[in-house]
Amino acid sequence: MAALLRSRRLLSTLASETELRFPAAAARRSGGAPAASSERRGVQWVFLGCPGVGKGTYASRLSSLLSVPHIATGDLVRDELASSGPLSHQLSEIVNQGKLVSDEIIINLLSKRLANGEAKGESGFLLDGFPRTIRQAEILEGVTDIDLVINLKLQENVLLEKCLGRRICSQCGGNFNIASINVKGENGKPDIVMAPLPPPEKCASKLITRADDTEEVVKERLRIYNFMSQPVEEFYRSRGKLLEFDLPGGIPESWPKLLQALNLDEHHEDEKMSIAA
Ligand SMILES: [Zn+2]
Repeated sequence: MAALLRSRRLLSTLASETELRFPAAAARRSGGAPAASSERRGVQWVFLGCPGVGKGTYASRLSSLLSVPHIATGDLVRDELASSGPLSHQLSEIVNQGKLVSDEIIINLLSKRLANGEAKGESGFLLDGFPRTIRQAEILEGVTDIDLVINLKLQENVLLEKCLGRRICSQCGGNFNIASINVKGENGKPDIVMAPLPPPEKCASKLITRADDTEEVVKERLRIYNFMSQPVEEFYRSRGKLLEFDLPGGIPESWPKLLQALNLDEHHEDEKMSIAA
């Protein structure tokens, strides 16, 4: 993934720490043999979207469609915690104290993940949950090219209903949603319809609600998210990389429209043909 790691735009203040974390960038800078110039690489996209919007779902579907890894920073943290990696001890202390994981640790985990992927011949990525802050966005810009940032949006009353409808099966851990949403679109946009995702019969009597899926907590989560993400959105908007995408409904309504917006309709046709075959 030669195009992934780039040295020319490294911020000088970050150069030394970046070289520690991105050995390949340092090697290229020090005149290492240029990688075979197979400049054909997979997409390098970022997914933004507030909690509950479903960006993990869309990122994961696109990841299979485009054959690029879906890298969710939440998973990186969980994997490191579950491993005996160098950061696992430090991380478990932070998590046990209920503190936020710092930009440095997240960047460290992400760069390790990208370097491992590169070593395995991965090409491209879909980042999910990163960058979360303007500082993370700036650091990321110094080390890799981002082609496109997809900002998934859902109006607040729909998000709220969706989050309040979430249910988990206490036995098998399955995720369901009992909300049947039919809400008037804001600003002249079409109405938003989302079918519930009902549990199978064996789970129906075992459903529980997550303790933090209350109206108060969901609204607070959205407020904090918007406060943090607006500068990140602006950062990419000013670089002409932000694609705003208003989800028109649930997955059946949104998926084809998202593919259209990304000029991936052809992929979708292929996908349909391979399903039909
Ligand atoms: Zn179940």
